[in-house]
Amino acid sequence: MFTSDVVMREETLIDGRTGKWEIIIGLEVHAQVTTQSKLFSGAATAFGADPNTQVSPVDAGFPGMLPVINEIAVEKAVKTGLGLNAVINPVSVFDRKNYFYADLPTGYQISQYQQPIVGKGRLVLDMPDGSTREVGVTRLHLEQDAGKSLHDQHPSMTFVDLNRAGVALMEIVSEPDMRTAEEAGAYLKKLRSILRYLGTCDGNMEEGSMRCDCNVSVRRPGEPLGTRNEIKNVNSIRFVMQAIEYESRRQVEVLEEGGTIRQETRLFDSGRGITRAMRSKEEAHDYRYFPDPDLLPLVLDPALIERVRASMPELPDGKKARFIADFKLSPYDAGVLVAEQSTAHFFEVVAKGRDAKLAANWVTGDLFGALNKLGLGIEASPISAEALGGLIDLIADDTISGKIAKDVFAAMLDTGKSAGEIVESQGLRQVTDTGAIEKSIDEILAAHTDKVSQYRSGKDKLFGFFVGQVMKATAGKANPALLNELLRKKLGS
Ligand code: ADP
Ligand code: MG
Repeated sequence: MFTSDVVMREETLIDGRTGKWEIIIGLEVHAQVTTQSKLFSGAATAFGADPNTQVSPVDAGFPGMLPVINEIAVEKAVKTGLGLNAVINPVSVFDRKNYFYADLPTGYQISQYQQPIVGKGRLVLDMPDGSTREVGVTRLHLEQDAGKSLHDQHPSMTFVDLNRAGVALMEIVSEPDMRTAEEAGAYLKKLRSILRYLGTCDGNMEEGSMRCDCNVSVRRPGEPLGTRNEIKNVNSIRFVMQAIEYESRRQVEVLEEGGTIRQETRLFDSGRGITRAMRSKEEAHDYRYFPDPDLLPLVLDPALIERVRASMPELPDGKKARFIADFKLSPYDAGVLVAEQSTAHFFEVVAKGRDAKLAANWVTGDLFGALNKLGLGIEASPISAEALGGLIDLIADDTISGKIAKDVFAAMLDTGKSAGEIVESQGLRQVTDTGAIEKSIDEILAAHTDKVSQYRSGKDKLFGFFVGQVMKATAGKANPALLNELLRKKLGS
């Protein structure tokens, strides 16, 4: 039974004209395995090569050529399976999926059908509100990619590029467990994060190394699953979410008009934000699957599985739990920091021996903001983790206030200098000398006797005014806590 038959969450329902509807979403992701060579041939897989320069006779479907399995691809599929908490099947089978297409010279794709290399698993979604939710993974199988038809090279001809033909893909199929476009987005983000942690796929959707087919249906709450449509090859998370929003609304409208949904394969037109019918959906039996006679069943050596298991890195969920436990971070902050391994590592260097909450705020706030503006990844951050840590140290030991620290941060970004150097050269050290602050307070109070009496007769808001004036007089360098304390004393409040 699908998990979807037992779960119904009121808050995910959408309103139609005639009542509420539940959206059901299942995703099929094609993830290109990070390997130097193809799944069954030695041809290279590098992105961006000239057309047909990375093609072996196996990929081109020459008669009599024999496929040889790429062991690295197998190991990476196992690794991904373990990362998805999934069952690894000791024996799996490669099948021929037969169909005719210009960019498929063999006339079939080698794939896995009834016995995939990886069985059921699960993936935890980190939702923007900090909550989590589990989605079932149905299976992961290995298969070959097809070639590519180039329609834009010649006015009347289509060219075929076989560089991609035979490249190893993992097809990762989810249960129909998602209920909103936001959940589908969270699923893809999490899956991509896990693949990147594992180094089994680069997750680069723009280059096509991760592509998503979205299956969408709608139903009245409590009813059996409705007929689904499959939106093919959507190549960004944003588009997946848009496609689901559009398609679910479309289906609700059709059904409310008294129509029926036919099972179709559809395309997402990102320019117009709509989905269009491409063809009626083929059934599995149309492909005449049968075990590829050129390939023996894939039998995994238990030692290989154990070796892969032993090489597993700490994954996002484990890291997140550790950040929450050790650094007392909120689930939301922890989730943001572990999404990319490089960010998590950066944060850990900053947080080591320091106030972790403060470190998290600086990394996810000011630093992310600055990197975003500069269009840089964290690996290329102009401020190193050590340098950011140095800035936080100056806040922690009261050398500078949190407010001055913002200016120091901006100067670090501009000059590449350390926080200490900037504070010294610009004289930003905060005044913690009680006498100096008191003197400044006395001057301000003497200059605003009218406001002092207003304050004393109940106009509490003026306190902020006095703070502001002293700060101005000290160029923002008065220690805020000390200033507050002394000012209260002087004003007798
Ligand atoms: P196929 O190989 O023909 O695409 P599968 O049975 O492998 O079919 O299912 C593909 C995807 O469709 C899975 O991700 C599954 O969760 C999803 N799915 C199945 N039924 C529905 C449904 N009624 N509504 C939405 N998604 C569905
Ligand atoms: Mg499918």
